[in-house]
Amino acid sequence: MSHSPPVRRLSEWDHDRLEGLAAEYGTPLYVLDPDRVQANYRRFDAAFPDAEVMYAAKAHTGRAVLSALLDVGADVECAARGELQRAIEAGADPNTLQYTAVNPPAEDLDYAVDLAEDYPGLTITGGAEDTFDRLEARGYDGRVAIRINPGIGTGHHEKVATGKDAKFGIPYDRVPQLAADLRDRFDLVGIHAHVGSGVLTDEVDDHARALGTVADLARDVGDSDLEFVDFGGGFGVPYREDEPPLAIEAVAETVREAIGDLAAKVKFEPGRYVVADAALILTTVNTIKETAEATVVGVDASLSTLIRPAMFDAYHPIRNISGPDREPAPASIGGPCCTSADVFATDRPVARPERGDVLAIGNAGAYGYELANNFHSQPRPAEVAIDGESARVVRRRETMADVTRVEDQASGAPESERE
Ligand code: PLP
Repeated sequence: MSHSPPVRRLSEWDHDRLEGLAAEYGTPLYVLDPDRVQANYRRFDAAFPDAEVMYAAKAHTGRAVLSALLDVGADVECAARGELQRAIEAGADPNTLQYTAVNPPAEDLDYAVDLAEDYPGLTITGGAEDTFDRLEARGYDGRVAIRINPGIGTGHHEKVATGKDAKFGIPYDRVPQLAADLRDRFDLVGIHAHVGSGVLTDEVDDHARALGTVADLARDVGDSDLEFVDFGGGFGVPYREDEPPLAIEAVAETVREAIGDLAAKVKFEPGRYVVADAALILTTVNTIKETAEATVVGVDASLSTLIRPAMFDAYHPIRNISGPDREPAPASIGGPCCTSADVFATDRPVARPERGDVLAIGNAGAYGYELANNFHSQPRPAEVAIDGESARVVRRRETMADVTRVEDQASGAPESERE
């Protein structure tokens, strides 16, 4: 049984240490704690002792995360060729990988089919009937799973409620016929669904009910002839300071009851739950502007560093680690991008920031660095992993040469020496 605390709040990180990291490595900076990644995985795994728990690589595909998880025995679910490659580079056995093909590009299918020739344990999950046709056209007749669309979505935002989005999965009522058909053409080993993401306590019952419908469908198609039923990820973490964490053992019990008996192995593929509170971003205050409406605090992180607030209206906790005891004052905090979407918080009480302060933006481990980008030609930040008292750079800060490399190579011009 795992005894790590179910949540790690931003206030619990050692502020002096964080200031030291900002001074040493510069900002914006991702700070990752691989021990916390492992503890989160272990807690989840312990709550579902009879299930196989894979890590959904899409939440954070960094090698430091993947290898920390492989070290504690996690399997990995990948949603693209690049994720497969990186999981293998981090040491995953390709025979254990599951590839969830979402509108897969031809090169991704080619790669997966080639990989399966050498590693027939690889499983390819299709969410459209023609994905299976495309696999067959490549001569593939190996392990497949059907991603179903349960018609019910859950989660923290419309844009993540995949279970009711026609883009994902085979419509529920078409699955039994497709399963019969696929059994003649492939080795049908599993049924898969991912209903939504960021499910917290008040949505657990709905989420569990949706998983129950997935289990019902698996029984309809014959669960004793399947190796597994995969219920996806979706387990949330508290981003707001006053939100309670999931009581994961109680959640597991609710989910088990909703699923009922299955002859096949049960699988889950959490992403966010494993990595969200294992990383934060350090950012420096560049500008303070007092206006009639707000104190505008300009920082050096932006939506190119962390896009979740702009993309999902996501809340991330923010603390002034340079002056945590100062009087809180409402602040609107944003980055250097020329769009009003580039805000991390609006009118948020934060210990009154001053120019040069370092702020920490919490819960940045899931879909944080993973969605970082080069908008405004901004180099992506560095990432350091902490280990006890030491820290190591696991992704160096990009330079301008990184940003322009592909253009330089395309034109045949010598690679830019701009840093
Ligand atoms: N599995 C699949 C197929 C997904 O699409 C996702 C997220 O989009 C996940 C797992 C991981 O979800 P979460 O990070 O909410 O656990």
